[in-house]
Amino acid sequence: MLALPLAFAMGCRLVDVDELPSPARAGADILLAPDSELIAALVPPRTTLAAVLHGHELAQQEVVSLIRTIGAHFDLRRLRAGRPYRLDRLHDGRVRQFEYEIDGDQILQVQRADEGDAFEASIVPIPKHIEVATFEGRIDRQTSSLYAAIVGGGEHVELALALAEVYSGEIDFNGDVHPGDEFRLVFEKATREDGQHAGYGPVLAAEFVNAGRRLRAVRFTDADGRAGYYDEQGRSLRRMFLKSPLKFEPRITSSFSNARRHPVLNYVRAHRGVDYGAPAGAPVVAVSSGVVVMAGWNGGAGRMVRIRHTSGYQSEYFHLSAIAPGVRVGARVSQGDTIGRVGATGLASGPHLHYGLIKNGTHVNPVTAHRNMPPGEPVAAVRLAAFEAERDRLFGRLSITTPLRAADADATDE
Ligand SMILES: [Zn+2]
Repeated sequence: MLALPLAFAMGCRLVDVDELPSPARAGADILLAPDSELIAALVPPRTTLAAVLHGHELAQQEVVSLIRTIGAHFDLRRLRAGRPYRLDRLHDGRVRQFEYEIDGDQILQVQRADEGDAFEASIVPIPKHIEVATFEGRIDRQTSSLYAAIVGGGEHVELALALAEVYSGEIDFNGDVHPGDEFRLVFEKATREDGQHAGYGPVLAAEFVNAGRRLRAVRFTDADGRAGYYDEQGRSLRRMFLKSPLKFEPRITSSFSNARRHPVLNYVRAHRGVDYGAPAGAPVVAVSSGVVVMAGWNGGAGRMVRIRHTSGYQSEYFHLSAIAPGVRVGARVSQGDTIGRVGATGLASGPHLHYGLIKNGTHVNPVTAHRNMPPGEPVAAVRLAAFEAERDRLFGRLSITTPLRAADADATDE
């Protein structure tokens, strides 16, 4: 049979023509024609895998066999609308291969077994290529936020969030970013073989010029195995308190004021916290690790959370639309954990976050208190040489020449 070598080349399995189901027997040229059709599509909303497969005119027995094999490896209820799938369908209505992208990391692969009508399924990781990339951006009138600068430059919002996280102890991205600010960073970026974006690894180093302050950051793993961010001298960028309990975007709409009772009007004008304009539903995070001491409805504060921290501090968050599951009195939360969502419960004219900070029983101005928080531990002396090598390597990628210490600089000038 002349056709057989060609069929081999196209990946057909070798079969006796008499074994083929009836459509294939119609003519010998079936083996010369392109033997299958490759279908690539997205899972439609509100459907089942069986319905998706039936939609491609597969033989009933094929659908039953596929569903049985897939169901043994993958929970069919986890099929998600909008996820890509590919189907390699032979012209006789049988399937050679089926693939479904479960998420950004894994793919379900189903192949026809070498013998018979059975299938074999497996879940395999999607191969990714990790590269070290750089990005430069600038804040100006058109590009007024870190988000706009990064997304406008062709990267994704996750990169803006990662950079905001690096500087969360130093810059309040809710209000401290100004036209003229500039930044650059070196980071890991994952790409799939087909060229699609597949997420980011950590930010490795960055420089942010914020209102004339030049803030540099290097990611370094200290002796205890924990990675953290340090300035160029090896001082930690992590503070006991985050700069604000919101990740991004909004601004201060009402600041702290300790005004006393008005003597004539007998009217209290004090505002014992700051209000952040923020969209309803935006995540609210714990500014520092601690234990929840209040969580629930509390009059004008609406749905609120209060957390006790070390050193006599408590933080409080008012007007929440929702409190995160697990955030109840006595629960322990870590710095950066989402504790609830912005809302307008209680005495609030619209969605915003009222954030208050209490030191030894007295409300203090959170904005200034946060600015004065002591930093975390610096790089240990024994690791300083390793830190400096890593810093210079990464800053080299950003064309930053680390300035010599003042004394050394003077010496070279002579
Ligand atoms: Zn308020």
